[in-house]
Amino acid sequence: MKKTIKISITALSLTLGLLSLPSCGSSSQSQEKNSEKETVEKTNTPKFEAISFDADSAFRFVNDQVAFGHRVPNTPEHKACGDWILSKLKSWGYDTTEQNFKGTDYYGKAITGRNLIASLNPQAKNRILLLAHYDTRAVADHDANVSNKTKPILGADDGASGVAVLMELARQAQKRNSSLGLDFLFVDMEDGGQAGSDEGWCQGSQYWAETPHIKGYKAKCAILLDMVGAKNAKFCWEAYSKAYAAPYLYTIWDTASKLGWGAYFINKDGSGLVDDHVPIIKELKIPALDIVNYDNARENGFGRHWHTQGDNLNIISKETLRAVGETVGTAIETKLK
Ligand SMILES: [Zn+2]
Repeated sequence: MKKTIKISITALSLTLGLLSLPSCGSSSQSQEKNSEKETVEKTNTPKFEAISFDADSAFRFVNDQVAFGHRVPNTPEHKACGDWILSKLKSWGYDTTEQNFKGTDYYGKAITGRNLIASLNPQAKNRILLLAHYDTRAVADHDANVSNKTKPILGADDGASGVAVLMELARQAQKRNSSLGLDFLFVDMEDGGQAGSDEGWCQGSQYWAETPHIKGYKAKCAILLDMVGAKNAKFCWEAYSKAYAAPYLYTIWDTASKLGWGAYFINKDGSGLVDDHVPIIKELKIPALDIVNYDNARENGFGRHWHTQGDNLNIISKETLRAVGETVGTAIETKLK
């Protein structure tokens, strides 16, 4: 995944104008107290069924990405995986766009990154942006084994899971001839920052937010999926999401509850994370939220596999992928359009 960081800001202290985010990288900052459970507003809409979402297919998309090896920016494996994502989207009938940009890798070397975009019903004015990062981290700096710390991670969860759920959502949206205006954005170079620093993270989303693939791009909301595949994942109310996209956040969590996925989508405040939703809030003023496996109640909020060699296929759960895919797909098709 990505990012790393988690910051200890309080949602209330955030104001859009001063989103000069505290540092990325360190997960050692103080944690906010877990706030009491809050009650999600219930809507009076009738019960609804989940949209079709094939967790076996989503799992295969995780597996296929991991099979490329480490997808560290500026490597052949990373290029091949990006090409594969584009080819799958094209095979389902999407027009795709590639966006190259200049950035720096984990070690500070100048490299070129590439964002990938696919749009459904591009003429539709009412749009929702769905995004995930497809790069993986060049180092396992949180691994307990010192000899592993300088090796890249496989990123089955941190990177591949969010991409896989987006791909399955894209495939299903075409299958059901959805009338939604959807943009699927696969951002590059999210996870190359230095621990303890706010430099180097989220480079692809920052570039896209400053230079969207369509001039004057607008969307009703943006939904980021990051680390959405691990067993026993916990998705809490990430603080920036709650501060800037609360109605959409509550709608998604409420949808999860109604679909029976309340054990994953927890009605509880989480920390503020520097992730790919932040540049979209800051630069484009689009309400953006982050569905990310992070729980303040853990010793390591992201889970023990985060930025370690343990982030491999063994920690991926089809049920978690299904919980996220059904929830997001159903929310966008029935509640957020
Ligand atoms: Zn990461």
